[in-house]
Amino acid sequence: MKKQFKSESKKLLDLMINSIYTNKEIFLRELISNSSDALDKLYYNSLTNQDIKIKKADLKINIEINDKNKILIIEDNGIGMDKTELENNLGTIAKSGSLAFKNENKDKKIDIIGQFGVGFYSAFMVSKKITVESKKVNSDKSYIWSSEGVDGYTIKESDKKENGTKISLFLKDDTEDYKYSDFIDLNKIKELVKKYSDYIRYPIVMNKETLNSMTPIWKKSKVSDEEYNEYYTNKYYDYEKPLKVIKTSAEGLCSYKSLLFIPSHAPFDYYTKDYEKGLSLYSSGVLIMDKCKDLLPDYLSFVKGVVDTEDISLNISREMLQQDKTLKLIEKNIDNKVRKELLSMLQNNKEEYIKFFKAFGPQIKFGIYNNFGIDKDKLKDLLIFYSSKAKDYISLKEYIDNIDEKQDKIYYCSGESIEKIDSLPLVERVKEKGYDILYLIDMVDEFAINALNSYENKQFQNITDSNLDLDSEEEKKKNNKINEDNKELLNSMKEILNIDEVKFTNKLKNHPVCITSKGNVSIEMEKVLNAMPTEEKIQAQIVLEINENHPIKNKLEELFNNNKEEFNKYSKILYSEARLIEGLPIDNPTEISNLICDIISK
Ligand code: ADP
Repeated sequence: MKKQFKSESKKLLDLMINSIYTNKEIFLRELISNSSDALDKLYYNSLTNQDIKIKKADLKINIEINDKNKILIIEDNGIGMDKTELENNLGTIAKSGSLAFKNENKDKKIDIIGQFGVGFYSAFMVSKKITVESKKVNSDKSYIWSSEGVDGYTIKESDKKENGTKISLFLKDDTEDYKYSDFIDLNKIKELVKKYSDYIRYPIVMNKETLNSMTPIWKKSKVSDEEYNEYYTNKYYDYEKPLKVIKTSAEGLCSYKSLLFIPSHAPFDYYTKDYEKGLSLYSSGVLIMDKCKDLLPDYLSFVKGVVDTEDISLNISREMLQQDKTLKLIEKNIDNKVRKELLSMLQNNKEEYIKFFKAFGPQIKFGIYNNFGIDKDKLKDLLIFYSSKAKDYISLKEYIDNIDEKQDKIYYCSGESIEKIDSLPLVERVKEKGYDILYLIDMVDEFAINALNSYENKQFQNITDSNLDLDSEEEKKKNNKINEDNKELLNSMKEILNIDEVKFTNKLKNHPVCITSKGNVSIEMEKVLNAMPTEEKIQAQIVLEINENHPIKNKLEELFNNNKEEFNKYSKILYSEARLIEGLPIDNPTEISNLICDIISK
């Protein structure tokens, strides 16, 4: 007689049968993990119950393929189930928690399956019919449970001789969308066992071959660098060995082992939204989740690896996992540990660190200004920039350590490349004064610097900011006077050019002009912000500075007094020059080139 599933189970079953979830293969992990539990139970019972006699070495999980009839068989010699247990365990869902969760998240049902699996029922994703033949240890009867899905199941007596459970999956027929017959392919099964169940502590045997290694690499005591590297390259499909392997082990408040890797280059999709961060989360050797996001802060999203803890239940739901205290604690530890390792790499192996920073520096910088700078203090010491003095990358700490105590600013300049910044007129002057300048060549650098605002009480100072002040009192006086005397001229130029300010400067050595900016948005930031696909365009407040010691000053004065038309042309040409040096576009190139031609053909 056919019996009905309990209504909740029916719903879940329905979900499984009609699942469009693509990662159906996880059913194998679920069944193997159930078998492993059954072997554990038998083993522990044998320790206390004299009547149960087993040899631990005999305990195993057997996989068999019947390719003619497309049946995949998973069998264990564990504790087994009696009739009531078959009925209760397979007719109902024990995990009411995960079902409640599922009901609340109907739309996201596919995701739940992917993240956790729902135990035995997940096998219905790939099977049109399932039989479970089981004999409870020390019982003289055995039973076979059979079901083709939602319309119920039957239980009959059977003649199984050995204790344990044998699950036969009658695979669904292949469709255009899914090749169910993959699961009668030996190599596919081997691959899946390796992928999901390698660390199950009992042998998983197919055709006399044991498929799993049984000891996870992070639990082994003596592992060579080559072994770690090989594990990494195989597991994460990387052609290059990791830059750093970090092994941790914690006991106490929460106990876990972790094996972490810092890749030596950014994966091709790292800076796209397709990239998923996360560490594999194991609970006692069983993979719970391939990419557990909650174990890594965003700024360390490049870290790969594994966390294995016994303090998290295998059946935990996604929602509960996010709130799980143990997980939070582990995340915190990992965060600290990785940052400590990076800092030590920066101090002891600069070359390696530069390689790291070239790959993942932008992520660290993002971490500094993300969330209103909440993590900036954790990350600021991981920053490195090219220094004009060292002609190499240095940290902010190194900058501070090498300057005169009286210097109260950290000078920086942004641009497209080290060479371009190096040739900027203003750079020459600041260098001449003996100051070290940090060259910011990454788009996001200035955002990070702005979020930091200062480092060890020294303010960051953009040398292309118009308020850059390097003058002695005497120099200032002289410059003020020149500007005062030429007020009308400068105002007139400002009107002609329609910019925020024009002034004479003594900042430039040999160059005639340069552009600086006032206020919060620098010229480099304007470039970056306007490269983003937003409607609103942002403009820096532009200041044209003219070298007060350059012959062009006299020329301008002369024209302003005698020939306004020429003065107009000169103003435009000078401003365009300054824009060109900054790498900024010119609004009216034809007009400017005509103006130049006008003048040179005179
Ligand atoms: P879970 O394993 O998370 O409890 P499942 O739906 O996978 O949920 O299994 C339900 C129950 O069926 C298990 O708790 C276990 O008692 C029993 N069970 C499943 N597979 C086996 C097996 N191979 N041997 C013995 N008992 C099993």
